[in-house]
Amino acid sequence: MERKVRVRFAPSPTGPLHIGGVRTALYNYIFARQNGGDMILRIEDTDSKRFVPGAEDYINESLNWLGIGIDEGVREGGKYGPYRQSERKDIYRKYVEQLLEGGKAYMAFDTPEELEKARQEIPNFQYDAHTRDKMRNSLTLPKEEVARMLENGEQYTVRFKIEPDREVVVNDLIRGEVKINSNILDDKVLYKSADGLPTYHLANIVDDHLMEVSHVIRGEEWLPSAPLHVLLYEALGWKDTMPQFVHLPLLLKPVGNGKLSKRDGDKLGFPVFPLEWHDPNSGEVSSGYREQGYLPEAVVNFLALLGWNPGDDTEMMSLEDLIKKFSFEHCSKSGAKFDYKKGIWFNHEYIGLADNERLTELFLPILKEHGVDNPDKEFVAKVIGLVKGRADLVPDLWTQADFFFKAPETYAEKDVKKRWSPETPAIMEELIGVLEGIDDMSSANAEKIVLDWIANKGYHLGNVMNAFRLAVVGQCRGPHMFDITELMPKEEVIRRIRRAIETIK
Ligand code: GLU
Repeated sequence: MERKVRVRFAPSPTGPLHIGGVRTALYNYIFARQNGGDMILRIEDTDSKRFVPGAEDYINESLNWLGIGIDEGVREGGKYGPYRQSERKDIYRKYVEQLLEGGKAYMAFDTPEELEKARQEIPNFQYDAHTRDKMRNSLTLPKEEVARMLENGEQYTVRFKIEPDREVVVNDLIRGEVKINSNILDDKVLYKSADGLPTYHLANIVDDHLMEVSHVIRGEEWLPSAPLHVLLYEALGWKDTMPQFVHLPLLLKPVGNGKLSKRDGDKLGFPVFPLEWHDPNSGEVSSGYREQGYLPEAVVNFLALLGWNPGDDTEMMSLEDLIKKFSFEHCSKSGAKFDYKKGIWFNHEYIGLADNERLTELFLPILKEHGVDNPDKEFVAKVIGLVKGRADLVPDLWTQADFFFKAPETYAEKDVKKRWSPETPAIMEELIGVLEGIDDMSSANAEKIVLDWIANKGYHLGNVMNAFRLAVVGQCRGPHMFDITELMPKEEVIRRIRRAIETIK
């Protein structure tokens, strides 16, 4: 029987969502949409020591910014809730009992000191079939002793009893059958009496089962946990409804070997988080894609191609396109280099495609930072239309268009040297006269009139136009000169030429 596709993104709120986590969420979302399935957001917060305030909101805001929709979750609700594990305490307790009663798990009373001692005395110590009989647990201690300790309220953990010498098979959609021997697994802690909470492993399995998750799509770093998860499904009697595993390739450093880290981003100057993050404990601020001026569709497109390809060389794909084309068959097993420059390229392309009005809204706060308050939005949109093809990130719109909002105060020295000769002021005076005579400053019309004048006078076209540009822009760069003067009030253009004549010596 075909199961309904139900996937979950299950982050732990231990800090800002890493860009790799965003990719995981994205693939889950795409897969759910493609199959008419449900996308669950489950908050895995059973490790209270690692809980960071604000992290859950950050996750929600990030997914929302990127257009990764959630069908069931803390905010969305749903009939499988609660969706925060810390609120599911009572649910887990029942399965802990079930495992204990069935002999699939046992209670361990070893103190941290005792565990440390074992680690020092036994080479390569792990708590397993070969060592558990030397430890203080409900398998080695007399029944009455265990009962007495429980009565006294002594703390314990519940450990999974891994059977030795078993071949465990993990079926993975990308990797095929991954086989390991159970001897390498340790008797993982599933529950701690101290806080009455399960650990990640138990809570994760119980919730995937109860929430009827059909596919567990997550990063490769969780592959080592998968054999244990398979055994847990078996021990709980849920083998037949075990989800299909899909472990996505790691994101690798842009240069060198190994996993992408925050340090790589700091060193090479790119964010590894979707949104800016203010660490509540250290006060440290980490940059985010949104605040750096990336568009969400660029980030989505860029991330989608880290570990997957459409089978041809199509690069530009909207979320809709991705939902049509995506398949795990075209996901790679090996890690994907985090080519952040490709991310910039995508952003450049998407800024070029974006509505001027939308970019205006993103640009207004940047204008404000530069002291431009309440500009005319229609004017801003036109300016953006002129320069957006030259911007990689939204703030580049300012570097490309600053002169539209502020008259130049200085003039680029090397351009002055090259383009401003002793004859220039007189020619610029003449140009003012020509401009004053033009009624229709539209680009093509003004261009024709000015170029005719230059030709009639036999002036050097390049020198005149560059001096004109130097006066209006402050340096010899920017869009087509007559596109600039079409947008700028004519009086302003003239004022700037006058000022250049007075200032440049
Ligand atoms: N809570 C785990 C995480 O932080 C979930 C891993 C999984 O998807 O099973 O990524």
